[in-house]
Amino acid sequence: HVERYRDRTETSRRHHETALEYLPGGNTREALHYSPYPAYLEDGDGAVVTDVDGNEYLDFLNNYTSLIHGHAPTGIVEAATDAVRRGSAPGGPTTDEIELARHLVDRAPALELIRFTNSGTEATMNAIRAARAYTGNDIVAKFEGAYHGTHDDAQVSIHPPAHLSGPADDPTSVPDSAGVPDSKREEVLSLPFNDADATVEKLERHRDELACVLLAPYMGSAVVPPEPDFLETLADWTDRTDVPLIFDEVISLRVAYGGAHATLDVEPDLITYGKIVGGGFPVGAFGGREELLDPYDPRGGASVVHSGTFNANPVTASAGLAALEAFDEAAVERLDGLADTLASASRDVIADRGLSIQFNRAGSLFTLYLSPDPVRTYRDKPHRKALERRLFHELQSEGVRLAPKLMGCLSTPMDEAEVDQFVAALDTALGR
Ligand code: PMP
Repeated sequence: HVERYRDRTETSRRHHETALEYLPGGNTREALHYSPYPAYLEDGDGAVVTDVDGNEYLDFLNNYTSLIHGHAPTGIVEAATDAVRRGSAPGGPTTDEIELARHLVDRAPALELIRFTNSGTEATMNAIRAARAYTGNDIVAKFEGAYHGTHDDAQVSIHPPAHLSGPADDPTSVPDSAGVPDSKREEVLSLPFNDADATVEKLERHRDELACVLLAPYMGSAVVPPEPDFLETLADWTDRTDVPLIFDEVISLRVAYGGAHATLDVEPDLITYGKIVGGGFPVGAFGGREELLDPYDPRGGASVVHSGTFNANPVTASAGLAALEAFDEAAVERLDGLADTLASASRDVIADRGLSIQFNRAGSLFTLYLSPDPVRTYRDKPHRKALERRLFHELQSEGVRLAPKLMGCLSTPMDEAEVDQFVAALDTALGR
């Protein structure tokens, strides 16, 4: 399959060789690298992207779930172009910022006030600061295997190697990168997802030192749903102890109109956003209860500091508003139904071929796990990278693009025809 890939992607190979001269490994965003080199993209239109060699792919990656309306949707292109014409970064507040804030506050039940950033990483970093300021405590509790961006408090126990990660019900905190301070082993607690008793027991042990509990409700892009008892127990505990619960909705805003907390009926204290909120432009946001956001009020001097040259810039804000307005309740529901069709048809194809593969879905998000057993936690994830990459390449050669770790999502330009194309490509790829 690698030879077939090389034959189709000669121009990409040449670009990669040039890139190697200036960028480490030719790369600036780790998730976009795959072996032997990634296909360089030239054009995107609706559900289809085209690489520099003219190969077309039905795009189920959508820039890692950010492009809810696919590529270059007319309304968003117009909104962004109009904003660029008015000055892309005027250096003063604009009404675009108010409109996007109003839309989100109206949309998300637990959101009272909001601030904008330029990435989801900055969003979780600042939500943690808000929680530390509120509690006066430093320790962040997060779940093993969960991704919340690349700042030091988030870059812990995302992919801990088995020999370093401790017992399943009491995971050890393991920095994921060289350069993350060793102090993060103590300042970040690692919790077992979907294990309510063990989670509460560990939280109780550290109750007086905790700044927050940080949770991506579907384990981020892993698409591992929270079990109802687990979430209920966790939310009861944070409620009772007044330890802020941060819902990281950078990805999960797309699963329901009001976001995951609306559909899961939980009231987090803080929420973080990114991805679809920027309409395809760099974005992040954090917000929540007034009490936690009031310290940012600059009148009389904010006690918590947050700034950023490009925060709430009008290009992102107007593109984001256009994207969210077009992703209304009817659009959310239609995409959910389409994803349900895609999931059940894919499960049929998998079963017909006698294979044991898990197809996890939440709203318009999905992940395939090459495992016979259900994936409920980080530790259930199979370690079959070579086979995952093989399936990824086989799907790509059938014109379907997913993340190399086999995560994907739908976008609104898709319909039954794209679902059929996905299922046929999956069948062929699995056959190979
Ligand atoms: N939180 C979650 C749940 C994410 O999936 C991501 C990005 N994949 C982030 C935070 C970080 O967002 P960004 O890449 O915009 O920094």
